[in-house]
Amino acid sequence: MRIFAPLPGEYVASALKRGNELLGIKSLKTEDFYIKPIPRVGFGISKTLSTVQAEWRPHQEFYYPKLLDDHKISELVLNDHTLYPMIAALGRHRATAIVTPKTWQKVCPDCVLEDLNNCGSPYIHCRHVLGSVQVCSTHACTLIETCPACSMPLKKHEIGHLAKCSKQGKWSRRQKREFGSTRHMYAKFVADLLGYRGPMIHDGTADFIAYASLMINRTREFERTELDMSKLIYKEMGITSRLTTSSISTSDKFPMYVFLGCHTAENYLNLLANQDEQDLLREKKKSIFNKLLHEANRTSPYRHVSA
Ligand SMILES: [Zn+2]
Ligand SMILES: [Zn+2]
Repeated sequence: MRIFAPLPGEYVASALKRGNELLGIKSLKTEDFYIKPIPRVGFGISKTLSTVQAEWRPHQEFYYPKLLDDHKISELVLNDHTLYPMIAALGRHRATAIVTPKTWQKVCPDCVLEDLNNCGSPYIHCRHVLGSVQVCSTHACTLIETCPACSMPLKKHEIGHLAKCSKQGKWSRRQKREFGSTRHMYAKFVADLLGYRGPMIHDGTADFIAYASLMINRTREFERTELDMSKLIYKEMGITSRLTTSSISTSDKFPMYVFLGCHTAENYLNLLANQDEQDLLREKKKSIFNKLLHEANRTSPYRHVSA
């Protein structure tokens, strides 16, 4: 027997783990919640020597855990209890875009208290799962990975026990909040994209909007040298990331890239939906590019600006 009764916005692994805890099972196997993206045929290392027709598809396909398939709730869970809506909004259709991260145990201390009051149990929210999200999108306080009451890492902590721990003195102390900080705006950006319910966005369009917005809003970063995303991410969000242009397709880095260009999910989705806005963006990008090229040629004919 298994218990699976997810609460609003609850991460799939959290719901399964709570179910296990009710049955006295303390652990949760990765295979029980991991929704594995299926790589496209013909990419990566081929096991056979014969050439295969490379598969082109603009959407993701998945292997689902047996429990979800057996109960015919795979798609429902994908849309409401994983990071998939954000992945779809950002057009990340390759197998490198992970919808069910294996590291997920983070909570906002205030959410724990609220969830306990409103839903009868604390739980881990999808909007907190992404590695690069560091604060709560609702309360703007830092997410914690260790229980402040019993000092146990949340990885080992029973979710149900958080109810008891959260009633202790160390927990109820007022949290420091950072409303409007870059980290908080980013958490909101991710939370808003998780509300997306449309089809998988075309990756080229997402790439263009992100890059053009960055060029327009962060022209100074492009002025000195070619854009250094890792530096920008460290400066803005305090995250050390070895980000190269080839690795921005992974699920955790691309959201930061789009966020730093577009600032809010509303801006980004608006640009996606509006062809006129995209044309305007293209024009602006072109004129900035020409200006940068002109300056680069003037200061040093050997310097290179890439579009
Ligand atoms: Zn919160
Ligand atoms: Zn505890």
